[in-house]
Amino acid sequence: MAYPIILAFILEISIQGIGYSVFQNLIENILFAVLIFLAINQLSGIKFGKKIANILIIFFYLILIIETGLFLLFQTRFNASYIYVILNTNYNEVKEFSSVYYNYNLFWLLLFLVPLLSVFSKKIYKQVKANTINLIGSLILIVFVLSVLKFSELIIYNLPYIAVKSYGQYQDQVNSINTFKDQEEYFDTKLVTENETIVVVIGESATSKHMGIYGYHRETTPRFSKLSDSLIVYNDVISSHAYTTGSIYDIFTLSNYENPKKSTPLISFIKNAGYKVFWLSSQRPIGFHDNLVSRLASAADESLFLNYNDYLNKTPYDEVLLPKLKEKLTIEGKKVIFVNITGNHYAYEKRYPKEFDKFSSDNNTKKSKIIDTYDNAILYTDFVVSEMIKTVQQEELKSALIYFSDHGEEVYDTSDFFGHFEDKPTSTMYEVPFLVYMSPSFERPLDFTIDESRAYMLDDFPHSLTHFMGIESDLLKKERSIFSDKFKARKRIIQDSLDFNTFKLLNKK
Ligand SMILES: [Zn+2]
Repeated sequence: MAYPIILAFILEISIQGIGYSVFQNLIENILFAVLIFLAINQLSGIKFGKKIANILIIFFYLILIIETGLFLLFQTRFNASYIYVILNTNYNEVKEFSSVYYNYNLFWLLLFLVPLLSVFSKKIYKQVKANTINLIGSLILIVFVLSVLKFSELIIYNLPYIAVKSYGQYQDQVNSINTFKDQEEYFDTKLVTENETIVVVIGESATSKHMGIYGYHRETTPRFSKLSDSLIVYNDVISSHAYTTGSIYDIFTLSNYENPKKSTPLISFIKNAGYKVFWLSSQRPIGFHDNLVSRLASAADESLFLNYNDYLNKTPYDEVLLPKLKEKLTIEGKKVIFVNITGNHYAYEKRYPKEFDKFSSDNNTKKSKIIDTYDNAILYTDFVVSEMIKTVQQEELKSALIYFSDHGEEVYDTSDFFGHFEDKPTSTMYEVPFLVYMSPSFERPLDFTIDESRAYMLDDFPHSLTHFMGIESDLLKKERSIFSDKFKARKRIIQDSLDFNTFKLLNKK
């Protein structure tokens, strides 16, 4: 039993390098083996004892093979998003985005077959005389090892445990989505324009402060700049929160700081107006921060998630969304396609392929490395989003694309750290890009006007998008639309408590 443990350990290290989780998994595997061993020890007196012992060892082997196989393929450990993606995606799609990982690694699994199982089990299965003292001793040891696994939290590396637990989380999420769908609201809407396709790209942790098109000293957005004649670049847009769920909730419902409990979903208006709604995401569907987003997304007619890994691990590059977007664009009929990219979330260096490793500083400090990798990630987002714009352009429909980010990011701009935390807010965590592309034939609503300098907060996005699309309803207010000539600037209260303008003045470096 030592062989598969050591092999699993070596294969994991060869993939991920010597990391914390690899060692934790090693210890968990050893404890798991001890448990199996203790159980086998008690089987000798029993009828079929030897058979059960063999089954246990084969079980142990299989678990390690599956666990290592998943790790080799996807560099992830089993989790609830994994189940969701597999069950909600067809085989070809799984294959397609799995190809960003190294499939040939799977061959290493053959090494697990080197020792023949029978030879192995004979060695382990010893004739221990069953007696009460031995039994009690083993039981105490089993309880002890289980407690160590549980309280050290090493148990999260145990595949059988995590598979059962993940399935529970998956079921919970499916149930909560179904409850959410049952509450879907239907109300009267009027459609005053006739457009065909609207694409809304929701970025992740992108601050406008690191974009060339917004005046950043590095040219991180050369493709946006090239397109600038056909882009409207709003330069004073902020998010209402500095974390995904807080901000996304405000963006996708009528909720804002004045009415935090107004939960009418944006997608309901769009569907009521006769549009088909798609949600394409390179983020994962289930996770502490992801559940709420996918619940809101579930209001869409169709949704597709292409990732099941944590941000800290390798995730598929956002370009996996490009063929999906193309495919949806060719579907006939009025449609809105939301595209949720992984964008610029830490770990930045894992968000872009090698070709985008452009910015580097002479001084090799941790800080300059962080800034370089963040800027490279922005450069990659510039590529992905402008490719999306080009795709929409090529379709030659009555169409438009809007890109913004869920919130910004501090990257040593106003403070000496990086990330986004509401308990340590900085202005760059709220300052987001907001770009609009309209095709030449796009039908604008009557009171449409362009003023790129409007001070605007994304919690009013439902009012803006619906107005932009010509959807009218009693619940929607033109004075909250960044595109309306009836727009009224309002106080921008972030975190439901801080006036952004005052906060920014105090936050200046
Ligand atoms: Zn976010």
